[in-house]
Amino acid sequence: MNLGNECPRTHSYLQIMENVVIIGTGCAGWTSAIYTGRANLTPLILSGTQLGGQLTTTTEVENFPGFPEGVMGPELMSRMQQQAEKFGARVEYKKVETMAKNDDGTFTLTTDGGEEIQTKTVIIATGAAPRYLGLENEMELVGHGVTSCATCDGAFYRDVPVAVVGGGDSACEEATFLTRFASKVYLIHRRDELRASKIMADRALANEKVEPVWDSAITKYLTDDEGEVRAVTLKNLKDDSESELEVKCVFVAIGHVPNAQFVGDLVDVDENGYAIQNAHSTGTKTPGIFAAGDVADHVYRQAITAAGQGCAAAIEAERYLADLEDGE
Ligand code: NAP
Repeated sequence: MNLGNECPRTHSYLQIMENVVIIGTGCAGWTSAIYTGRANLTPLILSGTQLGGQLTTTTEVENFPGFPEGVMGPELMSRMQQQAEKFGARVEYKKVETMAKNDDGTFTLTTDGGEEIQTKTVIIATGAAPRYLGLENEMELVGHGVTSCATCDGAFYRDVPVAVVGGGDSACEEATFLTRFASKVYLIHRRDELRASKIMADRALANEKVEPVWDSAITKYLTDDEGEVRAVTLKNLKDDSESELEVKCVFVAIGHVPNAQFVGDLVDVDENGYAIQNAHSTGTKTPGIFAAGDVADHVYRQAITAAGQGCAAAIEAERYLADLEDGE
């Protein structure tokens, strides 16, 4: 095995053949980069449009081991990036549009700028994007009273009523966070029981500014003359009654959609779009392509489990490359 060279990438004419391309810069991506960097594989990381993944849109992370006082999400990501770069990882701000397998078993990634990148292995660590309600005019209202990020937008809504939609940990976390700014936070949930962990649910519901609105769904966003959200129409899902609720912003926290649209037929995805890994491995149906973190994990979806999978994918990619060198 010869992975300790000064420059382990292969140059053929002007085309560079990367050892490892990591797609995504969340916990899984950076951890893969730290491990493959330390293995002298000089990984290339393609960050897409949002450097740092989902933790850059969160506040304090209380449950990442090693930080008894907690750590801010963006700081944790920035530290992971520094650690990866220290070991030779290179970051490029490009988004992968398609992925194809070459005749020799290597891969061609095509970016949004039309550039083709050749690589022997790929680690898909693209995470998941926030899910929206799918209502008419919803996407046009993002930034005008509809958002998925309380950390980013909460401070714009001081002393006014806002709503959070969802019943999971994210919804409870966002509702609690928003009480710092808003005069009132309606927690709109489609059932009468929260899915969130007890500690997060208790914290949100104990806050006097948080008012749960059970068994309800938003059916319409209502806007003012400036095109900003001023209220929503609510439907009670038990008796079908409709009502209007005055809020200046709706924070949608109803889960995520995995970012695996670009994988083509090289990686199977399940009915919800999550990349399917081989049993007890981060490998996929295509040898040389690995998937790690929230793009493949609909069960745990934690920063630490994503980091763990990133580590596993890096080790598996390293072993795959070693087997290639050995001619296996
Ligand atoms: P989640 O646990 O999947 O919860 C999504 C919530 O949105 C559920 O309550 C669901 O309702 C509701 N929902 C889904 N589709 C909907 C729709 N179309 N209309 C209205 N409501 C809808 O997602 P999450 O809260 O983002 O959490 C994801 C993972 O991250 C979890 O594992 C969670 O523990 C973790 N997380 C942890 C922390 C932390 O520990 N600090 C913070 C945030 C997230 P139903 O309940 O009826 O299905």
